[in-house]
Amino acid sequence: MSLVDELIEARERIEQRVAAAGGVGVRIVAVTKTHPVETVRAAISAGFTDLGENYAAEFAAKAGEIGGGAPGAATWRWHFIGQLQTNKVRVVAPFVGLYQSVDRPSLIAEIAKRSPGASVMIQVNLADVEGRGGASFSDVGPLIESARDAGLNVCGLMGVAPVADDSTTAAAFGRLRRQCDVEALVECSMGMSGDLEIAVAEGSTMVRIGSAIFGSRG
Ligand SMILES: *Cc1c(COP(=O)(O)O)cnc(C)c1O
Repeated sequence: MSLVDELIEARERIEQRVAAAGGVGVRIVAVTKTHPVETVRAAISAGFTDLGENYAAEFAAKAGEIGGGAPGAATWRWHFIGQLQTNKVRVVAPFVGLYQSVDRPSLIAEIAKRSPGASVMIQVNLADVEGRGGASFSDVGPLIESARDAGLNVCGLMGVAPVADDSTTAAAFGRLRRQCDVEALVECSMGMSGDLEIAVAEGSTMVRIGSAIFGSRG
């Protein structure tokens, strides 16, 4: 079986998992970090329209080769989902369609400078431990306000589940979903290969799936 055919099957499996969890209209972001350009091209051919990348230099090299990313100009959209250093925004800005990992004022300012009017999500730290990226819940409101003041389009919140049992994960996702509702934000990006059912049940609108599509990253 060709890689494209394998990825079509993988896409259908993920769609079935989302549907079985009660998800309707949930967007699937295929996380292609560490995978080569040929794999990304095959994913596009297999019908994935949203692609997620984590590392600025790797992403810029791949997106530069593949193209796309300019809103409306292509049939797929690049999501930047990894921790982003302020001095790397310049490198990724030509390609990013949606910045999902915005978590501090300096990053907002730099994105507004390099990608005026860009669509962003505020990443919230669901783990109560420092260092994995994400703002605290108490900072979400002020960050949304400052992003809007800078002319950015804030479309939702994003979170990565804590390493925890299912009920703790569900509680964390539920809290993120309620915060989206409080802020009247449409998009709630939560759920990965291992916890997408929990995320969908808690009201995810966007799941970010890597290993369940492309296999382990080795
Ligand atoms: C790598 C990554 C994913 C995908 O993880 P899988 O477990 O491989 O599905 C999703 N979101 C973020 C922020 C990631 O860094």
